[in-house]
Amino acid sequence: MISKTFASLRLPINKHRNKISIAYLCTKYFFMSFESLGLSHNIIRSVKKLGYLKPFPIQEQSVPVILQGKDLMGIAQTGSGKTACFVMPILEKLQNTEMKKNRNIQVLILVPTRELAIQIDEVFRAFTDNLKREVRTMAVYGGVSINPQMKGMFGVEVLIATPGRLLDLIDHNALKISEIQHLVIDEADKMFQLGFGEEMNKLFAMMPVAKQTTLFSATLNDKVAEMKERLSINPIIIEIKKEEVEIDNIEQLAYHVAPENKGPFLRYLIKEKKVEKALIFVSSTRAADNLVEKLKKNKIKAVAIHSQKSQGARRNNLEEFKSNGAQILVATDLIGRGIHIESLPCVINYELPRSPLDYIHRIGRTGRAGEKGTAINILTDDELQHFRVIQKKMGRKVTLQRTEDINLHGY
Ligand code: AMP
Repeated sequence: MISKTFASLRLPINKHRNKISIAYLCTKYFFMSFESLGLSHNIIRSVKKLGYLKPFPIQEQSVPVILQGKDLMGIAQTGSGKTACFVMPILEKLQNTEMKKNRNIQVLILVPTRELAIQIDEVFRAFTDNLKREVRTMAVYGGVSINPQMKGMFGVEVLIATPGRLLDLIDHNALKISEIQHLVIDEADKMFQLGFGEEMNKLFAMMPVAKQTTLFSATLNDKVAEMKERLSINPIIIEIKKEEVEIDNIEQLAYHVAPENKGPFLRYLIKEKKVEKALIFVSSTRAADNLVEKLKKNKIKAVAIHSQKSQGARRNNLEEFKSNGAQILVATDLIGRGIHIESLPCVINYELPRSPLDYIHRIGRTGRAGEKGTAINILTDDELQHFRVIQKKMGRKVTLQRTEDINLHGY
């Protein structure tokens, strides 16, 4: 039986809920593979291209259920990997059906916002390259002209839509949802928060009764529970339990360096501050390779894992780091999310991540299970403003330490 674990940080990011869910911090699932979920090699090829090492907990549990054609309700946060949970099995099934050449949508994904619609469409497109046949997907939302959306609808099989615009399109006879096979409602709780309840009811009335329904919500409130009744479904409920990581267990440090001193300062830290083992984050695969080369030249055993490395190379490098064969593991955000290492003492941000949430994901690799950890940021002038934003979102202030008096000669 797969155990369910989730991670959250105690951070006052949301005034009402001072916890942030970060599902993929948890990876007790290290030996599970995408293959074992029942996905074919066409899908797996895309998974590998995206650099996913192994399924996230929610994927592990949801994908087989959706493949079996069962209704599902997943309680999962943004960032838990829930999009791929439905994208992979939906495409798996669609590729084995005949291509539709009409305006009857096969798969409808209802979302609360334009941003989410675009994001989900991108994930679908990332997976469609290797399929047995072309599958057309499209995202439609309000705030833009309806005409191109109407014109582009012919042959679309997977439609990702916000409720209001979808109703408009149906009113214009641009499409039909009376034959959909699969309905996905993403961020169901947000749908109600944004007042889409009535519009959704109208849409439900236009759909066939016999269809597969997948529902994702960050919370299971009364309105979401009511939706089950409204749709007459009795779904399998998958809820990923939360494991709490205390941000207070993580000592956060920030050093201000000149751009040309970033590398030398990192090596100084590793050598002089006796950083025995550290996970270093960078923002690109190229930066990861360059950093590893530099560290090796300076006799520091380092390995990298990123999406450009083969599955085998990644596994070997991770094992080398875990077994203390390598002192440093350099990773990008995408790959870093899939990593779990017991008692990791130190995380270094050699380059800051784009979003504050990614910052939290990164530093949450250390200071786990009641242990103390250290998160170090090496910052140049042009990163300071972004670091201020991160601190504000995190609700923690990190003192910036100057480094110009440190003699970096020889590092
Ligand atoms: P989502 O919750 O669907 O928005 O996904 C959050 C992020 O996790 C996205 O950037 C995905 O590309 C990434 N992601 C999803 N599944 C995996 C996986 N199995 N391994 C690594 N990254 C993943």
